[in-house]
Amino acid sequence: MQALNLYNTLTRKKEEFKAINSPYVGMYVCGPTVYSDVHLGNCRTFISFDLIYRYLTHIGYKVRYVRNITDAGHLEGDGDVGEDKISKKAKLQQLEPMEIVQTYTVDFREVMRLFNTLSPSIEPTATGHIIEQQEIAEVIIKKGYAYEVNGTVYFDVEKFAKEYNYTALTGRKLEELLENTRDLDGQGEKKGRLDFALWIKAKPEHLMQWRSAWGNGFPGWHIECSAMSTKYLGEHFDIHGGGMDLAPTHHTNEIAQNVAYCGKQPANYWMHTNMLTVNGQKMSKSLGNSFLPHELFNGSHPLLTKGYNPMVVKFFMLQTHYRSTLDFSNDALNAAEKGFMRIAEAYKTLKNLKTSATSSENITAIETACYEAMNDDFNTSVLIAHLFDVVRIINSTNDGKATLTQKDIDLLQKIYSSFVFDVCGLKFEEESSEAKNTLGKVVEVVLAMRVKAKEEKNFQLSDEIRNKLTDAGIKIKDSKEGSNWSL
Ligand code: AMP
Ligand code: ZN
Repeated sequence: MQALNLYNTLTRKKEEFKAINSPYVGMYVCGPTVYSDVHLGNCRTFISFDLIYRYLTHIGYKVRYVRNITDAGHLEGDGDVGEDKISKKAKLQQLEPMEIVQTYTVDFREVMRLFNTLSPSIEPTATGHIIEQQEIAEVIIKKGYAYEVNGTVYFDVEKFAKEYNYTALTGRKLEELLENTRDLDGQGEKKGRLDFALWIKAKPEHLMQWRSAWGNGFPGWHIECSAMSTKYLGEHFDIHGGGMDLAPTHHTNEIAQNVAYCGKQPANYWMHTNMLTVNGQKMSKSLGNSFLPHELFNGSHPLLTKGYNPMVVKFFMLQTHYRSTLDFSNDALNAAEKGFMRIAEAYKTLKNLKTSATSSENITAIETACYEAMNDDFNTSVLIAHLFDVVRIINSTNDGKATLTQKDIDLLQKIYSSFVFDVCGLKFEEESSEAKNTLGKVVEVVLAMRVKAKEEKNFQLSDEIRNKLTDAGIKIKDSKEGSNWSL
């Protein structure tokens, strides 16, 4: 079987994945700016990296997955101009900035839970790492790649670009970048128009500000990721990820900061997810075309005919490779729902299939093909095509048109466990409610035995049953009418 290959934005080609210190893998992904609800586009990026995390873990790597929470420093213009997104919202709603941060962090985690994504190993916040960001800025100044003007510290891009390839990540020409950069407010104090802020002087009314060697201020957006990735994964780690829109500025500047700070390009592999679009246009809050996850789940968005289960939405996303754009529409979701239901139905059928002494199918080859699809830059689109082969085989066996041995059926079960549940992180609703029903029946049987024990005045046994159920997480409430239970 081929080894795991992934597309590296830095080299613009697919490369074999080699961990720096196998089996350990360090992966940093730029997290959300928690100033408003995450939209479905943001979710696509985080679902894609969850898949990558799940697959690396599935094939045996021990991954430290760091995904930050941006709770300060991300300005409206994504650069050095405009207000801090969180402070602006706080002022508007007359709340503490940390109330805004709390509201949307909780919301983000809940959405991620509904999509059945795994929690990262560490979720550090920008405000929790102010000192680390200041330290990096100080070192960069000392090394001559940053300068201070009136309490703001700028990275000197021209100086850096004379010694290093500033645009390594995108391959763009520096001259082109210069031509395309408009003259914006505050540009006056910068030496060069591409220079960006590591630390920004705060006006007295700015809500979130900290003391520093350069006076009161707050960190620039890019430096938080340099500080937190270095702190938790070291100066050189395996994978750095984010949405494709972050590559030209945020990630380009992050690399420049790290190289200026310690002479090292931070990550071996830079991975970028492509955009979720609506009618071909990037889904974004500022364009007003964003769909919020809950509008999708309950069908309240005007462009939807009904609500969709989070697993259907996730399946819809996984049907397209993470590096391709994905256009969002009601019809596409409907089609995804049908596909997802076919996979879920076949799983039920699989449990009741009759076995034969001989087999007409090669299930091992399908399992290998599933791994090969994932090893080819996490190609879930091809993986799902193989899962539909699995569905076809299950259904034809059920119709008597194909035969499977017990070994084949066990292997099909393993394919579901590995790829549908473990790697894609999908789950079937019926399964969980079926399991709940069964659990309910079992608890009722046990409670009836407890009633019998009480009738026979065997209070030791009735207490023991109650304690054992409590240990198992089942709460019993006794009343005159009998016993109720809850989880
Ligand atoms: P933000 O909260 O704006 O910092 O964005 C969080 C993440 O979502 C970043 O990695 C972005 O690149 C990503 N992102 C934003 N819009 C989209 C979109 N339409 N499709 C996919 N990813 C997106
Ligand atoms: Zn970042």
